[in-house]
Amino acid sequence: MRAIVVGSGSGGAIAARELARNGFKVTILEAGKPFSPLTHRVSWLTSFRGSWLLKNENSIKHVFPHYGVTRASPDLAIFRGLTEGGCTSIACGNMVRAEYGLKEIGLDLSAEFEEIEKSLTILPIPREKWRPLTRQMYDTAEQLAHSPKPTPKVVDLDKCVGCGYCELGCTTGAKWDSRRVYEDYLGKGISLSTNTTVHKVLLDGSRAYGVLVSHGVSTEKINADVVVLSAGGIGTAQILRASGLPARENLWVDVVLTIGGQMKDSRMLSEPPMAWFIKKDKYILSPYFDLLSFWLHKPWKDVAMQDRVGMMIKLADTEQGTVAAEGTVTKSLTRVDIESLDKARIEAIQILEASGVAGPFVDGMVHGGHLGGTVPLTKDDVETMHPSWLPQDLWVADLSLMPRSQGLPAMLTTLALSLRVARKIIQAKNKS
Ligand SMILES: Cc1cc2nc3c(=O)[nH]c(=O)nc-3n(C[C@H](O)[C@H](O)[C@H](O)COP(=O)(O)OP(=O)(O)OC[C@H]3O[C@@H](n4cnc5c(N)ncnc54)[C@H](O)[C@@H]3O)c2cc1C
Repeated sequence: MRAIVVGSGSGGAIAARELARNGFKVTILEAGKPFSPLTHRVSWLTSFRGSWLLKNENSIKHVFPHYGVTRASPDLAIFRGLTEGGCTSIACGNMVRAEYGLKEIGLDLSAEFEEIEKSLTILPIPREKWRPLTRQMYDTAEQLAHSPKPTPKVVDLDKCVGCGYCELGCTTGAKWDSRRVYEDYLGKGISLSTNTTVHKVLLDGSRAYGVLVSHGVSTEKINADVVVLSAGGIGTAQILRASGLPARENLWVDVVLTIGGQMKDSRMLSEPPMAWFIKKDKYILSPYFDLLSFWLHKPWKDVAMQDRVGMMIKLADTEQGTVAAEGTVTKSLTRVDIESLDKARIEAIQILEASGVAGPFVDGMVHGGHLGGTVPLTKDDVETMHPSWLPQDLWVADLSLMPRSQGLPAMLTTLALSLRVARKIIQAKNKS
């Protein structure tokens, strides 16, 4: 049985491995290049702040092409990993269960969560490895009754040098990414083709039988018994639309806004990002040096790297974005989103100020990178994990399936969802 899996992020990686383990001959088609971290050129890059080289969010693609950048509206930029490993290659390594909205549709992923958690080492960064200010802010948050918790991470503490550049890749191999999920199966059930963009699904009436891809200027049709779209919330929706199939106008991105303050020689970048977090109803707060705002956002320009302090707000935004066939994304902040950010900003500034961080407190760039909701599961789909409006033999295994935004790290949930989908594919194919 031949399966095509489109994308090698969390969703594609675990789906591919599960199918290969069960005898499928799997081809992963990945639009991005093999991943390599940027870390060694970071200090060079910092000297170009404010120059033509780093003039807006699109500039990042020229220095670090593994980032995909889309402007969804004047108030929202979207970043994603377009590379082997998808967003996991540029993730912070945070690993938590994000389950908001699953009960509503009757989907219990506890078994998958447990299985995946057991297969990984998930631990917080010990407090003694935090910067003094991060410890101070944690204690302050506790005193203010915000109940902060150390963030569970998939980071090998023996290898982590605390460089703070997780989102530019990990040079020491300390940080887990989804490539590890399938590497043992390469050449043994899985073949991987990078630099290969899937444009559309080939359909024969109500059945999928392959995909149309391009490598550089050449195009090719590849046939398979099963096609699994794991191209992420934007990529999967784009392929569906280009194939004449619908994608829902329900994109969510988990909006990130980092409030910047300053403290002399706080050196926030000398520790892993997001060492702890506070969970509120619609958002989390977490200490975070926003590299993108530091390099690209003019209002952050006047403070030196070693003195810049950041407190991230990660918001579960309103699910109302759209993705077009050619990849254009349209989404802006709603009134509800703005009100939630206003409330969170006040709390963030309270913690910063009470910890001795000085103002002016300046908003960072508003962006999002947890992309889901474009193929949202409904109650009726949960038994099969196959949205009823998808053709036979076409499946989705990525965060697109998650109906609601989370305001929380999303890798673990993507892995759990996609593992469940892969097992349903195996059952369905064994029956037919
Ligand atoms: C900067 C950043 C940091 C993050 N940090 C964390 C974190 O610490 N913890 C956490 O839990 N989550 C984090 N996330 C979010 C998390 O990594 C993702 O939400 C999750 O992994 C989504 O997985 P996915 O498989 O749905 O999509 P993706 O990871 O986006 O994978 C999709 C893959 O498909 C490929 N692709 C897209 N279109 C095509 C096409 N047409 N043809 C072929 N291939 C295609 C892409 O190149 C990519 O490899 C972070 C995200 C970002 C952007």
